[in-house]
Amino acid sequence: MKIILLGPPGAGKGTQAEFIYRHLNIPQISTGDILRENVKNNTDLGIMAKSYMDKGELVPDDVVIGIIKTRIKKDDCNGGYILDGFPRTIEQAKALDRAIQPDKIDNVVFINANEETIIKRLSLRRQSKKDGTIYHLKFNPPPEGEEVFQRDDDKEDTIKNRLKVYIQQTGPLINYYKDKGILVEVDGSKDVNLVNSLVLKILGKEPVI
Ligand code: ADP
Ligand code: AMP
Repeated sequence: MKIILLGPPGAGKGTQAEFIYRHLNIPQISTGDILRENVKNNTDLGIMAKSYMDKGELVPDDVVIGIIKTRIKKDDCNGGYILDGFPRTIEQAKALDRAIQPDKIDNVVFINANEETIIKRLSLRRQSKKDGTIYHLKFNPPPEGEEVFQRDDDKEDTIKNRLKVYIQQTGPLINYYKDKGILVEVDGSKDVNLVNSLVLKILGKEPVI
C-alpha cells in the first residue's frame, strides 16, 4: 500500500502516520523528519535546508525529490509506505508518479483543518527527544518525565507563512489527486480517535474503535 497524507501543517498528518504505521506496519516517511535530522546533525543538506525551514518556506523540489527517491528504494518499503509531508508541489507529485511507475499511489488521505485549529495545535505541539512521538500540551500531554522539545518553526509568524505556502503551493495537489480519483477528505479537527477510525475506514481497514 502506498499512502499519501496531505493537508495543512498541524492538521494531524504525523499523528495519523504514527497510528497507521502501528496498525499496518508499513514505514512512515516524513520529509520534515528527515530534514530535521539533517539539521540536527549539521550536514550540508541540513545547513542548506534550515535556511528555508526557519522561514516556513519549502526546501527546493530537487532536494526533497532526491531524498524520497533514495528512501523508497530501501527494502522496508517493499510492502508500501506512508508519505507524510511529501509531495508538497505539483512538481514533486509528478516526480513521485514517475519514480514509482508502473506502480501507483493507492490512497491520498486529505486531512483538513481550519486556521484557528492549526494555530492552537502547532503553538502547543511538542515532540519526544527520545523517539519523536508527537504530543500536544493540552490535547495529548507527554507522560511525566518524558523529555520533549518544541520545533523551531512552530512560532506564530512562521506558522502563518507555512499556511500561506501550503495554500499557494500545496493546495493544487488536492485537484491533482481528485482528478485521479484517489483522494478522500477527512475532517482533521475532530477528536484524534475519531480521525484514526475514519482514516482506517478510508484505507479499507477495520477501525479500532
Ligand atoms: P502535522 O503532521 O499535520 O503537522 P501533527 O500530527 O504534528 O500535524 O499534529 C499537530 C499537533 O496537533 C500535535 O501537537 C498533535 O498532538 C495535535 N493533534 C493532532 N491530531 C489531533 C486531533 N485530532 N485533536 C487534537 N489534537 C491533535
Ligand atoms: P513538516 O515537518 O512536514 O511540517 O515540514 C517542516 C518543513 O520542512 C517545511 O516547512 C519545509 O520547509 C520542509 N519540508 C518538509 N517536507 C517538504 C517537502 N515535501 N517539500 C519542501 N519542503 C519540505
